[in-house]
Amino acid sequence: MSTFKAPKGTYDLLPPDSAKFLAVREAIAAPLKNSGYGYIETPGFENVELFARGVGESTDIVTKEMYTLTTKGGDELALRPEGTASVLRAALEANLHKVGNLPVKLWYSGSYYRYERPQKGRYRHFSQVGAEAIGAEDPALDAEMIILADQAYRSLGLQNFRILLNSLGDKECRPVYREALQSFLRGLDLDEETIRRAEINPLRVLDDKRADVQKQLVGAPVLRDYLCDACKAYHEEVRALITAAGVAFEDDEKLVRGLDYYTRTTFEFVHDGLGSQSAVGGGGRYDGLSEMIGGPALPSVGWALGVDRTVLALEAEGVELDIPAATSVYAVPLGEEARRVLFAKVVELRKAGVATDFSFTGRGLKSAMKNAHRSGARYVVVAGERDLAEGQVQIKDMDSGEQEPVALDAVVAELQRRLG
Ligand code: ATP
Ligand code: MG
Repeated sequence: MSTFKAPKGTYDLLPPDSAKFLAVREAIAAPLKNSGYGYIETPGFENVELFARGVGESTDIVTKEMYTLTTKGGDELALRPEGTASVLRAALEANLHKVGNLPVKLWYSGSYYRYERPQKGRYRHFSQVGAEAIGAEDPALDAEMIILADQAYRSLGLQNFRILLNSLGDKECRPVYREALQSFLRGLDLDEETIRRAEINPLRVLDDKRADVQKQLVGAPVLRDYLCDACKAYHEEVRALITAAGVAFEDDEKLVRGLDYYTRTTFEFVHDGLGSQSAVGGGGRYDGLSEMIGGPALPSVGWALGVDRTVLALEAEGVELDIPAATSVYAVPLGEEARRVLFAKVVELRKAGVATDFSFTGRGLKSAMKNAHRSGARYVVVAGERDLAEGQVQIKDMDSGEQEPVALDAVVAELQRRLG
C-alpha cells in the first residue's frame, strides 16, 4: 500500500463497480441523445466570478462549498461546483443561440467539486449527467426535461423515486411573495445566520432542514397563492403535459432548491431508500441566468442528475444492472509457440470486434483457467503444442463445460458465430 490515500470526501471508482457508473451515465444520456440534445464538455474550472454571479452569492455553494484558487498568473478560478453556469457561458461564448435553432439543447457528463461535510451520498468530488435547453420558454420543454429524467431512471429499473414539482414564479410575482415571506420571517425567533439569509434570499429559509425552524414555518405564506396568472397558466400546462405522458409527480410548494437562479418550474427527484441524502437529481427553469452572466435574455430549463446517488439508489432497491461481461473470449496458450500463435489470434479476434483477453506471463494451465473464469469470458481458447501440430485449438464453453477442437483458421468465424 502506498502512503497516500484518496482525499477526504472522495473515492476511487474501481472495476467491477466502475462498470455500474458507466452504465448509469449511459442510461441517463440515452434519452437525451434520442431527443435532440448535443454533447457539450466545458473545463473543470472557471472564473470564480461566473459561479458567484451564475449560482448566486447567497447560496451554500458559493459561500461555503467552492474550491477556489489563485493561479500563478493571478487568475481567480474555482473548480466547477455545478454544470449550468458553465454550459450557458460556453453557449453564449460560441454564440450557439444565434447560429442555430432555439432552444439550444445540450447534455453533459462530468465531475463536480464541492467542499461539503462528507457522508454517504455526499462527497467532495461527485459525478453528474445534466441537460440544458437554452433560449425557449415553452411548457412542453419543461415537461420534456422531466419526462426524460423519469425515462432515464425507469430504464435503469428504479421504482422508488418520486418527482417533486413546484413553480417559483417569475420576476412579476416572485418579488411580491418574497416581500410577504420576509415580513413573516421577521416575526420569527431565528439565529443570526438565518436572519441574514432571510434578508438576502428568504425563499431558501423554507429549505432549512432543522426541526425547530420548520416548526416555526408552519403558516408561512406559500408561493402558490402569489403566482401571477401567466405563471399559473404556465405551470398548469407543464403539469398537464407531464400527466398526459403518464409520469407521476407530487406538488411540493416548499420545494425551492438551492440555486438562486431558478424561476417558474422547479423539480427534484428524490429516492426513498437513501436516508437524508435523498435527492438524486433536480433542476428547473432559469429564465434570468443568461442576463445575470452578461448575456441576452434567454429563458432556459435544465436538470442535473447525480450519478453517485443514482448508483446508491440502485443498490438500495437491489437492482442489478444487466452489464455484459467485459470479456467474451479468453485465450490460454500452453508453451512458447502457442503464445505467439494465440496472441496473433487475440489481435485478430479483437479486430473482428470480439472482446478478448489473453493469459499473460506464461502461467500454468490451472492459474490461467482461474483468470479465465474471473474474466467472465464465455469461451476459453486453449492451445498446446499438440493442438498446433494438428492445426487446431480447443474451444471450451465455460457455461456447459464442453470442449471442442476447432481448426486454427476457423476460430474467429466460429467464435463470432457462437457469440451471435
Ligand atoms: P443536496 O440538497 O443534497 O445538497 P443539491 O441541491 O445541492 O443537493 P444539485 O446542486 O441540485 O444538488 O445537484 C444535482 C444532483 O447532484 C443532486 O440531486 C445529487 O444527486 C447530486 N449531488 C449534489 N451534491 C452532491 C455531493 N456533494 N455528492 C454527491 N452527489 C451530489
Ligand atoms: Mg447541496
